[in-house]
Amino acid sequence: MKIICIGRNYGLHAKELGNDIPDKPVIFCKPDTAILKNNEDFYLPPFSNDVHYEAELVIKIDKIGKTIAPQFASKYYTQISLGIDFTARDLQSDLKSKGLPWELAKAFDNSAVIGQFVPLNNKNIQDLHFTLEKNGETVQVGHTADMLFKVDEIISFVSAYFTLKTGDLIFTGTPAGVGKVSAGDRLIAKLEGEELLNFEVK
Ligand code: ZN
Repeated sequence: MKIICIGRNYGLHAKELGNDIPDKPVIFCKPDTAILKNNEDFYLPPFSNDVHYEAELVIKIDKIGKTIAPQFASKYYTQISLGIDFTARDLQSDLKSKGLPWELAKAFDNSAVIGQFVPLNNKNIQDLHFTLEKNGETVQVGHTADMLFKVDEIISFVSAYFTLKTGDLIFTGTPAGVGKVSAGDRLIAKLEGEELLNFEVK
């Protein structure tokens, strides 16, 4: 399986990092070795002094597909969760300044934390609220209505380049409020008030 991530998909977050609003989705991938699940502890990697949390809605792909039209994209998922796209911001800033790919900053082991998956049922995927708490304080508030590229547009765009397979995950971008984590921090992510992720940074 693969993990596909969207960068700069919320306008306020793009601005907080000094980036322009993109006219096409910004795409990067993580390998399956990046997955951390079951609320296991996240260990800070030794190669960064500035690891940031990015809370995101995560879509699990249910069936194989390529060149999927936007109007059919919703047939390719039934389960969603929240995840953390951990980012070594110091490495990423350095790579960005040199025009180099982001993988070392974004795709390292355990950098894709995923929560418990829940059925979407009849909920509107573009009208979901989520929050991230760090040590009991709310640090990110997301509303999927604010996505610059909607989930079905993302699936359509991505599937023109990569065949999507059962079990693939899509991280759909983070709202404003990203920040650094330190050893001892506890992160809790809630979707419509339901806790899907609760783990500690070590
Ligand atoms: Zn992200």
